[in-house]
Amino acid sequence: ASVAKVIDGKLVAKQIRDEIAAEVSRMKEAVGVIPGLAVILVGDRKDSATYVRNKKKACESVGINSLEVNLPADTTEEQVLNYISGYNDDPSVHGILVQLPLPSHMNEQNVLNAVRIEKDVDGFHPLNIGRLAMRGREPLFVPCTPKGCIELLHRYGISIKGKRAVVIGRSNIVGMPAALLLQREDATVSVVHSRTSNPEEITRQADIIIAAVGQPNMVRGSWIKPDAVIIDVGINPVDDPSSSRGYKLVGDVCYEEAIKVASAITPVPGGVGPMTIAMLLQNTLTSAKRINSFQ
Ligand code: NDP
Repeated sequence: ASVAKVIDGKLVAKQIRDEIAAEVSRMKEAVGVIPGLAVILVGDRKDSATYVRNKKKACESVGINSLEVNLPADTTEEQVLNYISGYNDDPSVHGILVQLPLPSHMNEQNVLNAVRIEKDVDGFHPLNIGRLAMRGREPLFVPCTPKGCIELLHRYGISIKGKRAVVIGRSNIVGMPAALLLQREDATVSVVHSRTSNPEEITRQADIIIAAVGQPNMVRGSWIKPDAVIIDVGINPVDDPSSSRGYKLVGDVCYEEAIKVASAITPVPGGVGPMTIAMLLQNTLTSAKRINSFQ
């Protein structure tokens, strides 16, 4: 039996970062502008702090300026809105990112709506999502994780047009925009969620599976059509006494089973994760170019 090709997100993300770094220095030389990303972190969630640190490091690696503000968990919504409004007006800032989830006393909708759509590098503003959903409209930014999934398919020469695609999960940040993107790429798309009665049967029809659920190893080998392509977005910690940390990260897809059935698959870690940050850098560069009319 053949074994699936491993889609190397780490490698592709590195290639993309190199391309971005070259563009950042070309723009700096030509018009003297350095792209800037402002990241707002509220509270002290460890995972969020890690994500923010990684984003900052990635910015530095390509020459993008990163401004970071760390606010205590009891910050008021008004204070966060004030920061956003300051960055909206700051010409050195081309992208504004509010690390989610916000503390529960804040209204996520109010906060995300306050980001100027021209600086909405996460692509979470309802106007950007609405345009993503509409034919003939173009969003200014596409959410980073689903954009990274599609970019991996493109860079591996996997065609999407006319294919059956199944997205497992319908969250605002991954599943829903992933389904919209696949549809824009002319796939025929089904969305599986927690109320779907026959997820296995539907998933088995897919030529392309994007799994974004948050359930370790949920998608088994029997769910997969032979030679399907699998993009596994899930990042799930599971106990692992043999690791020094006591846990390891696994995807939503049972990798050991899937690799025997699929034609290509992303590993966890090293698949979609690094692509998400690369797409954030790309969106920030795109924004700086657009704001400065630089091509
Ligand atoms: P959410 O919890 O917001 O959404 C999960 C989705 O999965 C929901 O739509 C839910 O359905 C659905 N779901 C839950 N259980 C089942 C089930 N048993 N069967 C079918 N569908 C189910 O998660 P996110 O979208 O934010 O994240 C999903 C995963 O991706 C997580 O593991 C997260 O860590 C990871 N992630 C990875 C990123 C990366 O960069 N690689 C970035 C962001 C997330 P319903 O709508 O009915 O509740």
